[in-house]
This record gives sequence, C-alpha cells and structure tokens, in this order.
Amino acid sequence: NQPAPAYKRVLLKISGEALMGDQGYGLHPPTVERIAREVKSVHDLGVEICMVIGGGNIFRGLQGSAQGMERTTADYMGMLATVMNALAMQSALEGLGVFCRVITAIRMDEVAEPYIRRRAVRHLEKKRVCIFAAGTGNPYFTTDTAATLRANEMACEVIFKGTKVDGVYDKDPVRYGDARRYDDITYDDVLRDNLGVMDASAIALARDNNLPIIVFSLDEPGGFRGILAGEGTYTIVH
Ligand code: UDP
Repeated sequence: NQPAPAYKRVLLKISGEALMGDQGYGLHPPTVERIAREVKSVHDLGVEICMVIGGGNIFRGLQGSAQGMERTTADYMGMLATVMNALAMQSALEGLGVFCRVITAIRMDEVAEPYIRRRAVRHLEKKRVCIFAAGTGNPYFTTDTAATLRANEMACEVIFKGTKVDGVYDKDPVRYGDARRYDDITYDDVLRDNLGVMDASAIALARDNNLPIIVFSLDEPGGFRGILAGEGTYTIVH
C-alpha cells in the first residue's frame, strides 16, 4: 500500500542548467528524459503537476546586457530560451506517455498555448502536466518569480525547487565539509542571510501568500517522489 501523497497539486521549479547535463551549455536530451522520469513517477501517484523551467542553460538577460545588449531585449531572449526548454521537457514527458501542455506567458500560438488561468486549471484537473514557459512575460523578472506567481495562481500547495543539493545550507556544502543543512527555515531568515534559495522577489511573493518552498536534490534518483511519500531529506522554507 502506497502512503497517500502529502500534496495534491505542486509546482516543480528547475533551472535551465538542470537540463544541460555535463555539457556546460544547452540541452542534453538524456538528462531531460531522466528528469521527465522523476516527474512521471510523481504524476503516477495522482499528483497534479505544474512546472516552470528556467533558461540559464541557453541565455540570461543579465549576461546579454552586461555585454552591451539592451536589457529588455536580452530578457525577452531569456524568456524565449525557457520556451525551448519547456518544449524539450514536453517532448520527453510525452515520450513517457504523460500528457502535457506548454503554456506561454508570451503568445506564440503555433508553438504552445497562451496562458489562460482557468484553462490551465482544467488541464491540471485532467491530470495533464502544465509547463509554464516564457517566465512572467515581463523583463526584469526571473523564472523563480514566475514559478511563485504561477504556483499562487494555480493554487499549488507547495513549490518544489529542484537543485544540486538536498536542501538549504548555512554555507556552500560543496566547498565546506562542515556546512549544516536546515530542516526548515523561515522566509525572513532566507532573505536576511541571503541564502540563495530563490531570488528575493520570489521569496517575498511566496512569504506574502504563505506558499511553502521545498528545496531538494534533483540528482537523487527517486528523490522527488520520495518526499511526496514522506521520505528523504530536504529543507522546507515556510
Ligand atoms: N526572464 C525574464 N522575465 C521572466 C522570466 C525570465 O525576463 O519573467 C528572462 C531573464 O533574462 C532570465 C532569463 O529569462 O535571465 C532566464 O531565466 P532564469 O535566469 O530565471 O533561468 P534559470 O536561472 O532558472 O535557468
């Protein structure tokens, strides 16, 4: 007998870099497929899943503007990069038999659906994974903020932030052997100590709407599903 999943509707946020494998840039299809399998394993529990994927593996607006590009143009390029990542994830999920919709904050009807809140909710109710792409549709934001925005709009109970490590530490656990992981931590502590869970506007938006954030390792096979089944290590920001 499976334990009941702790949440009925969740949003999974991953960075674009999670999709590039060891390549250092772009998309690595086997890595995309591996993550799609993790998503499917949670979908198989009957959990309704939203996803937001960053674009940093392809383009970041800040990098472009640092090299002389006009900032808003560079940010639109970053938003378009998230659409490519979303399409790759959609393809991988569909390959595993999981029905899935890419929903964009910037209209491109030939490529994906435009964002219409009630329609997206309906997809979730029909157990389709919804991948929200093109961020918030506005420059000067990040996909972390987009994730918090969509999680609120879709009435998700929690954001799962997939990272390389199994939670939030008081210092970089890769560099410091004595780094300590928090089991739970408040939004204000994360903001005050600049703990780099998500950017400050995303954390503030989550705090103001009482939306918990679970930081967990996406590299741990079965980790995402395990947490929903009440196992594994992670940090909850609340
Ligand atoms: N972006 C934006 N508005 C948004 C979301 C994203 O302008 O609402 C742009 C911004 O330039 C950002 C890029 O898209 O650098 C890629 O997103 P992000 O940096 O959040 O990706 P991640 O770091 O999660 O891979």
